[in-house]
Amino acid sequence: MTVTITELVQTLDELLQPARFRDYCPNGLQVEGRGEVRKLATGVTACQDLLEAAIDWGADAILVHHGYFWKGENPCVMGMKRRRLGALLQADVSLLAYHLPLDAHPTLGNNACLAQRLGVSAEAALYPDDPSAVGDVGDLPDTLSIADLLARIADFTGREPLHIGASQAQVKRLAWCTGAAQGFIDQAALRGAEVYITGEASEQTVHSAREQGIHFIAAGHHATERYGVQAVGAHVSAALGIEHRYFDIDNPV
Ligand SMILES: [Zn+2]
Repeated sequence: MTVTITELVQTLDELLQPARFRDYCPNGLQVEGRGEVRKLATGVTACQDLLEAAIDWGADAILVHHGYFWKGENPCVMGMKRRRLGALLQADVSLLAYHLPLDAHPTLGNNACLAQRLGVSAEAALYPDDPSAVGDVGDLPDTLSIADLLARIADFTGREPLHIGASQAQVKRLAWCTGAAQGFIDQAALRGAEVYITGEASEQTVHSAREQGIHFIAAGHHATERYGVQAVGAHVSAALGIEHRYFDIDNPV
């Protein structure tokens, strides 16, 4: 099956509702390629390795979580940016990017997919007063030892998470937000979470965890944000009858 790029963008916009978010980048079609889409590649970040793998596979469009044109970046098309855009334009391949909308989708988003793997359901938003914010809070069905939770995370991410421990060995109330959301740790503590799980850590996150007595887990930015784009890719592939393949470009952060 083939769809037009317009139909693909419309389907993704209806699914992910980008207009709801105040974001740091444009969401939707960022680089326009050929009009017809038969093969959709997905990946976490539109890095050169992903572009090349997708173009080699014969992709007509590439869907990512981390695209281009971030607020505050140098807008000039030079060096790395020239090579990336040049590869897309030369191959006539579209780039579609959804950032916060792909974190937040209630069933296919990065946070929903992470929750599913953690074995927890979102009961409330981490920031209930801000509809544009991402992150969730919820209780595990039963108390779990922190060692078992860490083993569960290592199992599905395929890497050892960074853990800053707190005193309680048994935990139940979790807060989580994928990616570089270490700055939300204070909000997680405020919401009564015993464990806060995100992708990355900063120097001050460690002190925040220690002083507020909350377990902090940095499970990897790439590792926690692999799932949403795959789920959305599979969903639109089934809905539109186009071919889909996810490309994992290894990233230890
Ligand atoms: Zn991210």
